[in-house]
Amino acid sequence: MNSKELFERSKKVSPGGVHSPVRSFTSVGGTPVFFQKAEGAKLFDVEGKDYIDYCQSFGPLLFGHRHPDIAHVVRETMETAWSFGACEPYSLELAEFITTKIPWVEKIRFVNSGTEAVMSALRVARAATGRNKILKFDGCYHGHLDALLVKAGSGLAGLSSSDSAGIGEEMIRNTLVLPLDDEESLEALFKKEGDQIAVVVIEPLPANYGLLIQRKEFIQKIANLAKKYGSLLLFDEVISGFRVGFQGMAGELGITSDLVCYGKILGGGFPVGAYAGKAQYMDLVAPSGPVYQAGTLSANPFGMRAGLASLQKAWKENPYKKLEEDCNYFAEEMVRLFDRYTNIKWQAVTYGSLFWFKGYDQKPVRNLTGIPGGHKENFARLFHSLLKEGVYLAPSGYEVGFLSTAHTKEIISETLTKTELGLKKEYSK
Ligand SMILES: *Cc1c(COP(=O)(O)O)cnc(C)c1O
Repeated sequence: MNSKELFERSKKVSPGGVHSPVRSFTSVGGTPVFFQKAEGAKLFDVEGKDYIDYCQSFGPLLFGHRHPDIAHVVRETMETAWSFGACEPYSLELAEFITTKIPWVEKIRFVNSGTEAVMSALRVARAATGRNKILKFDGCYHGHLDALLVKAGSGLAGLSSSDSAGIGEEMIRNTLVLPLDDEESLEALFKKEGDQIAVVVIEPLPANYGLLIQRKEFIQKIANLAKKYGSLLLFDEVISGFRVGFQGMAGELGITSDLVCYGKILGGGFPVGAYAGKAQYMDLVAPSGPVYQAGTLSANPFGMRAGLASLQKAWKENPYKKLEEDCNYFAEEMVRLFDRYTNIKWQAVTYGSLFWFKGYDQKPVRNLTGIPGGHKENFARLFHSLLKEGVYLAPSGYEVGFLSTAHTKEIISETLTKTELGLKKEYSK
């Protein structure tokens, strides 16, 4: 069966034929590709066609698909245990590894997704402060929990309505939303409601609505105001953690938070999330404290052991500098080709191994108002011209792309050749 036939079947049994909205190609049009196999930087679809993968499962795969160093640990896990629902040494090892390498992470609790991590961290913050309000920033995505699905990012960004149905007024009454990169609004809001804000949650590197790199001064201002008004600061590093550097964006900026959430790379390709931070707050969590949170499959051995193997590899090999250089080279060369063939001037926004292609702008884009008009349509055409030749970008102009260590010079060179061919065919029509 080909992708089209499988998608028709899928639509009969699952909403929109998918289990997470961006996968459906709604934003770029056409039929989603059904993949069967993955290895390194490559994906193979159900008909055997190969693609160079710059989506990398939306971020978890720092070393590409099924890296041998991680695969062998997964194989070992196959032969030892799949789930205990009891104490085991694997999560302990991972927790110790993280807390020794990231000093401001004193205690950590593993869950099964980024969404779950953020949801639980908010609960801790409310308990710690005895306050109810949450401040978030427009253009940051924190998973699909009710309280934060307010003008939220990517999956909804392409659609006309930015809220989700089924979230009543009372669920978001305590959520305050501000634009990114705006100190004035921030100060005004804190002056008015600061003493009621339990927690300020932000992606310190917003990467779910394009890549909206913040000024350090803005993040510092948030940290200062939170401290001044007794609100906790929560860095959502689900995408940036272990990605921009081992210590995530906090390490890059030299600004730390009271609580932090991880996910994606943390599980080495398996479903793992975590919330963590200062012991005084984490000790509020059951059974040591009154904040209830539990999970049948939490700290599942596959995720714990694949996660530890990934993080140990990242710590030991420190691939970040090379990834950044490769990503800069890749993105600049791609934009050179886009400019040459598409009649639109493009720009690559990059940070470490993350990249985002957008229309050219003189000013750096730091919040939603900066995203150029027509972006969705321009990206959709670009996306399909590359897809035909076997270059797979994330299927939305509002998603970032990722390089992994599997994206070697040869893979990048192959990408550029295929890209040029695809652009030539599409844009000379
Ligand atoms: C991906 C992501 C989430 C949600 O994680 P899931 O595992 O998809 O629930 C939350 N916050 C950020 C910053 C993310 O990038």
